[in-house]
Amino acid sequence: MPQIIKDILPLKVPMLIWIDPTNMCNFKCVFCPTGDDELLKSVGRPKGMMDMNTFNKIINDLKSMVQKYSQKPLQISLYKDGEPLLNKNLGQMIKILKKANITDCIEITTNGSALTEKKSRELIEAGLDKIRFSIEHVNDEGYEKIIQKKISFNKILENVKNFWKINQEYSNKVHVHTKIVNANLSSSDEKKFLKTFKDYTTTIKINYLHGWSGSEKDFSLNTEPTKSVHGDSLIKKKVCSQPFTRLTILFNGDATACCVDWSHKLVSGNVKNQSLDEIWNKNTNKLRMNHLNHKVDKNSPCYNCHYLLGYQEHEILDGEEDRLKKYYS
Ligand code: SF4
Repeated sequence: MPQIIKDILPLKVPMLIWIDPTNMCNFKCVFCPTGDDELLKSVGRPKGMMDMNTFNKIINDLKSMVQKYSQKPLQISLYKDGEPLLNKNLGQMIKILKKANITDCIEITTNGSALTEKKSRELIEAGLDKIRFSIEHVNDEGYEKIIQKKISFNKILENVKNFWKINQEYSNKVHVHTKIVNANLSSSDEKKFLKTFKDYTTTIKINYLHGWSGSEKDFSLNTEPTKSVHGDSLIKKKVCSQPFTRLTILFNGDATACCVDWSHKLVSGNVKNQSLDEIWNKNTNKLRMNHLNHKVDKNSPCYNCHYLLGYQEHEILDGEEDRLKKYYS
């Protein structure tokens, strides 16, 4: 049963946190802004890898917050805009996070292409709790159409199988989740996906295309999505729960209140020169108040955001505006 968000606010420590080891990716998926260099150039989005000084500052700040407020994030994901395995320090990051003991779930989402046997062992031994494999298609041709590059489907499958096999050797097993986005998959493709991966994963899911926050480009591939990414019905609402519950720290230390803020327009501070406590408990209030006052600027990614409509009943904050304003004004 998911937590009823309105009942747990205000959160002095974010419920879910994304830390981006890199916003670079070796795929160029047609439904993902990271795959469109021209679009990223047009919004001035920088590219890079998170360095260990920035990572350590984030973890130290989070440790202080967890101690100060006696609240822990439910999950910390080492992933946001890019492919996390491209950062050679990923294993070290997981190790540091595990040692800090500030969450019960350390997660990564990966396309699996760079997951060697050595890397699999490194991640498991570092203390990874959950890995989510993003599978893009079920054959080579389908992969090429989606990721706009050539890759062998069998190589991806072997990497997933090997991870599963290696994982069985350890007592603290990583939860393996395998998902595919249904970007024009046929029903036989869907069946093939489920049949091929079911024996090598703890959980498995078919996801749906979604619109992104305020995108100038249609990443839903002309499908006009009528479902959320998880296949739920869309619900009209004014107040988004993201800024009240989630925090994302980008590769360069910028912090944004939204995990789908692909253009980084919602950045409210940088962890290199401010504490995360200040960013979360002070800087983010402006965006929260804009939502609570129904005054989202037309230029904001939140204006006409499709992703917002995918949040389900337990995340609804509409109707709670007056009560919540006193915490955030
Ligand atoms: S409305 Fe959209 S862009 Fe704004 S915080 Fe929510 S999900 Fe992100």
